[in-house]
Amino acid sequence: MMAVEESFLRCTACDQEAEHVVVYAGRFVSEIQCTGCGAVTRLDVSDEYLPDLRQRISSKPGRLMRRFRRDPGELATSLPQRTLSKPLRMVEEFRTVWRSRRED
Ligand SMILES: [Zn+2]
Repeated sequence: MMAVEESFLRCTACDQEAEHVVVYAGRFVSEIQCTGCGAVTRLDVSDEYLPDLRQRISSKPGRLMRRFRRDPGELATSLPQRTLSKPLRMVEEFRTVWRSRRED
């Protein structure tokens, strides 16, 4: 679910061209970190990510669950382990998590 790539970009914080660690949530970029200055840019992908997650859960549950365990990210670690075996319940937990973040 969470994938990481490195890209050579111009940093918006330090204005240097440097390697950036790009974190994907599904198909969408969720976080970009400059390896030069450490600045982190977070993107709110909840509107695009949740329907995408639901679609992938319904189509490929086994693959998703394996990747979920192998690459536990910020979202994964916020969920209790037992929900990993209950995809639909997990979607509802994601919705709750995102809703609560937005209300902060
Ligand atoms: Zn930077």
